[in-house]
Amino acid sequence: MNYRDVDIDNNAYFEALGFKCGLEIHQQVATEKKLFCHCPVGLTNRPHDAEILRHMRPTLSELGEYDGTALMEFKTKKEVIYRLYRDRTCTYEMDDTPPFLVNQQALDYAMRLALLFNCRIVDEVHVIRKQYLDGSIPTGFQRTMIIGVDGWVPFRGRKINITQVNLEEEACREVSDIGHTITFAADRLSTPLVEIITDCQMKNPTEATEVCRLLGNAMKITGLVRRGIGTVRQDVNVSITGSTRCEIKGVHKVDNIKALTAYEAGRHKGLLELKDLIKGRFTSPEQIPYRQHDLSSFFQGSLTAIGRRLEKTPVYKTMALLLPGMADIVLHPLQPGRDFGSELSGRVRVIACIDDLPNLFFLSRKANYNIPDTDWEIIGKALGYKAGDDIVLICGPEDDIPTAINEIKIRVAELFSGIPNETRQDMKDGTTDFERVLPGPDRMYPDTDHPPVKITTARVEQNRKFIGERLWDKQERWRKMGLHEEQVRALSLSPLADLFDKLAGENGLNMKKAAHICTATAVGLRREGYNPAAFDKDRLFDIIRQSLKGDWPFGRLKEALISLKENSGLKAERELSEEEFNTLWSKNAPQYCGKNNGDDTYKFRRFMAGKLIAHQTCRAHDLIAKIDRRLAAGK
Ligand SMILES: [Zn+2]
Repeated sequence: MNYRDVDIDNNAYFEALGFKCGLEIHQQVATEKKLFCHCPVGLTNRPHDAEILRHMRPTLSELGEYDGTALMEFKTKKEVIYRLYRDRTCTYEMDDTPPFLVNQQALDYAMRLALLFNCRIVDEVHVIRKQYLDGSIPTGFQRTMIIGVDGWVPFRGRKINITQVNLEEEACREVSDIGHTITFAADRLSTPLVEIITDCQMKNPTEATEVCRLLGNAMKITGLVRRGIGTVRQDVNVSITGSTRCEIKGVHKVDNIKALTAYEAGRHKGLLELKDLIKGRFTSPEQIPYRQHDLSSFFQGSLTAIGRRLEKTPVYKTMALLLPGMADIVLHPLQPGRDFGSELSGRVRVIACIDDLPNLFFLSRKANYNIPDTDWEIIGKALGYKAGDDIVLICGPEDDIPTAINEIKIRVAELFSGIPNETRQDMKDGTTDFERVLPGPDRMYPDTDHPPVKITTARVEQNRKFIGERLWDKQERWRKMGLHEEQVRALSLSPLADLFDKLAGENGLNMKKAAHICTATAVGLRREGYNPAAFDKDRLFDIIRQSLKGDWPFGRLKEALISLKENSGLKAERELSEEEFNTLWSKNAPQYCGKNNGDDTYKFRRFMAGKLIAHQTCRAHDLIAKIDRRLAAGK
């Protein structure tokens, strides 16, 4: 086991590290049309109608400097391809026409979500351009608007600050990224989304997950946001004492946040250890005596992984680089299954675009490859290898190898300052890998194509009316009823939450049992293909109430609910004739009721109710009354 497999539930450990986490939740808003044009929202899986090819080129900013991200993207020498769909894209998305006036429905929805999080709504909405250089937006910038500021949500007796709620346009959807070609589908481009930004106030991975879930669920139950896969993504910022903030981009699953942030914190701890280690060996990055050696013909025809790669692509070159005194540094664990060598590999993969894995072959990891010791000895001699050194072999296109070697040296140099400023990608197993250099702070500038939009007090107040009881207030109420956390969580997203609250208005019902019905039983019904949310609300309420009062056998409840059928109220399978009713009665009554068998009228009453429900057209309440009348009349 790798010692970076930190115990992700050990909150005290993370608090001692000075763990800090902030969230940016990107949630698509449920409008019919896009944000700045009249194209419909929604993805398509039919073939595209056209393609556009673009090249990225860095330009000087207004301050006369190159942006770090722009330079990085330029180094990757990418060709960008956009797939266009006639019914999903127009000239706006391709930057051939200026924006139409912002979608007013989206603006109102964003305002309601900002009010939900107790934000102050701005007096005037200004469209701002946010630089976007990964190619996912053809213009090279995203249009965004600040809608609300200075909000908060309650969390475990304190306030989590919501610093901003923004309304912005979605980027394109990435289809593939192979070598120097990246392909995007433009159907998703310009879908409206809200960005919810919190302060870095979460003190451990569990809190980060819980706050994210609270914010996400609070939005979901409003009906103002889109649901389903790909409609919500979060960027998660992590730092520990002495480290620099890193941003994990595009996390889809809230459940992954716990492991991701825990392991990211572990990575920062490892990098701080490496900082001390390397500073003890070299006074500065310039002092490191790297050496390189051309191995172009060396692996030609060999049966090693490199030999086979050269056989497939003969134009590839191979270079060896000596990493002086770095064998232990390369192997230093940073995340489960990942060490500093993985950091080097990530940089080379993204920036030099050498993405056949493994893209780097380390002497210190030689057991993983079939390169014979005799080969390593020859290479070592050529490089002047000493014990404690490491050697890395790079095999790829000739043009990309100098970029790769340069990136390795840059990444090692960054060890001297600790944690590089970068965005990380979610590797879906709790670990992260390098994505891109974090953009500088000067990446926002005003958009001159769109006029400011005045927001009147009347419009704010109109939107405030749409906010019902907030999720955290509901949850607090449910906790006070004695529901446990798991039930509170399940009920938060249950389509039967309102029904649960209606049941809570009745006296003397077992609300834990009610919560079970409105969550677990409802889920069970959905699995069997029934949609309890579409059942007749009054009938549903009636049956559940009767069951909780004890008039109904709990075990038969599901059957009773299924008999409701979707949208059809309490329709009988087939109405039971008076004769059939009598037969059922006389056959079973003696088993339960009678002098010889003792008296279990209560059990019999429940048995009959359970048996009859599928055949009755009357309300559950009336059915029980009918059985009671029979019983009173004398068996
Ligand atoms: Zn359009």
